[in-house]
Amino acid sequence: LAVIEAVEPRVADATRAELADQRASLKLIASENYASPAVLLTMGSWFSDKYAEGTVGHRFYAGCQNVDTVESLAAEHARELFGAEYAYAQPHSGIDANLVAFWSILAHRVEGPWLEKAGSKNVAELTDADWEELRRELGNQRLLGMSLDAGGHLTHGFRPNISGKMFHQQQYGTDPETGLLDYDAVRAKAKEFKPLILVAGYSAYPRRVNFAKMREIADEVGATLMVDMAHFAGLVAGKVFTGEEDPVPYAHVVTTTTHKSLRGPRGGLVLATEEYAPSVDRGCPMVLGGPLSHVMAAKAVALAEARQPAFATYAQQVADNAQALAEGFNSRGARLVTGGTDNHIVLLDVSGFGLTGRQAESALLDAGVVTNRNSIPADPNGAWYTSGIRFGTPALTSRGFGRDEFDKVAELVVDVLRNTQPGTTKAGGPSKASYTLADGIADRTKAASAEM
Ligand code: PLP
Repeated sequence: LAVIEAVEPRVADATRAELADQRASLKLIASENYASPAVLLTMGSWFSDKYAEGTVGHRFYAGCQNVDTVESLAAEHARELFGAEYAYAQPHSGIDANLVAFWSILAHRVEGPWLEKAGSKNVAELTDADWEELRRELGNQRLLGMSLDAGGHLTHGFRPNISGKMFHQQQYGTDPETGLLDYDAVRAKAKEFKPLILVAGYSAYPRRVNFAKMREIADEVGATLMVDMAHFAGLVAGKVFTGEEDPVPYAHVVTTTTHKSLRGPRGGLVLATEEYAPSVDRGCPMVLGGPLSHVMAAKAVALAEARQPAFATYAQQVADNAQALAEGFNSRGARLVTGGTDNHIVLLDVSGFGLTGRQAESALLDAGVVTNRNSIPADPNGAWYTSGIRFGTPALTSRGFGRDEFDKVAELVVDVLRNTQPGTTKAGGPSKASYTLADGIADRTKAASAEM
């Protein structure tokens, strides 16, 4: 930090403060984790300075031999770890990975056949009139994904996102009674809507998905099955999700982030079957520019870590800890969406405490518990205030928490929420109860930091 200090001390200060904050709080944001020192150090290298548009061995810049090495390693580890036929390590983030997937599917299913019919090999050679027709065709495709309030992601066809604008889109939800995915309802919607792409995967659904059933539905309507495993990739990597709960054998294209339960650098990956590989391989220049070479190197390191037996133990602990957290909430009378969890996410309905999600999030933050508010199915408070708090176990499991610690977390959360009055959170000053708990946590984490 002394090197940074000499140039812009405020960045050095903020970096120090971020470390202190991350140590002094309970990080329960389901999409966050703690990457290893090996991953963090790899990201901070001079690979950052290298341009490498293109693909391995086929770059638009000279001198990419070392980038070729790390990109190949990232792809090889990803293929081996997930049992995928093909892996693409260039996407900068989960959203980028999804954009690469969407455009690869469009290229394979729409552009390719269209060009073949037109007797042309290359869009650059088309007449202006043909080009306009192809563009209309590409813009006329359908996507069916899980709705945001049921736990889907913005990129699964939410209208304000580009995915909702690129495609004619419809969304499937969950059963209003149970909060669970209803495969018959998804099938009925797919049969009626006939999407080109069926997206499965989630950001806030606390249950496993049967991908064999999703593939069956996709096949029945001629759709490409795309699974976004950004959240649960660590559980797939650690073989907690196997058989029909592992998306890789069933999906045509799988996307993921590398920084959530997978515990790598911030970034994305696309896995695909051989059929879709050639179009995914054109991610650059189709959607991406120069890849983040330093991040691809860090992906290779993180994926190598995830291939170690210790990662499977970690992933199982993530799932066990989520069970303990859910049991801790249930035994204290708190209401959970779907009644529990069987992945790494617990979604708490805070309306029973007389709070909105926003108030609960703020009260918990005052107490040193970092979470995020989240919509629950048919949320009466909308996407900004919400009625839910989403908890995830990957980060604290990385810090060594087990079932007992997660039961204590449930106790702490319920205490804070029971002792919080609407209007006494952050904006109006934190509640007294949460201050007391915050002090307790600060003392304990100070002691823990002293040991680090
Ligand atoms: N897909 C899912 C399911 C996600 O939960 C997220 C992030 O929260 C993303 C994609 C986007 O990832 P990123 O923030 O890296 O763009």
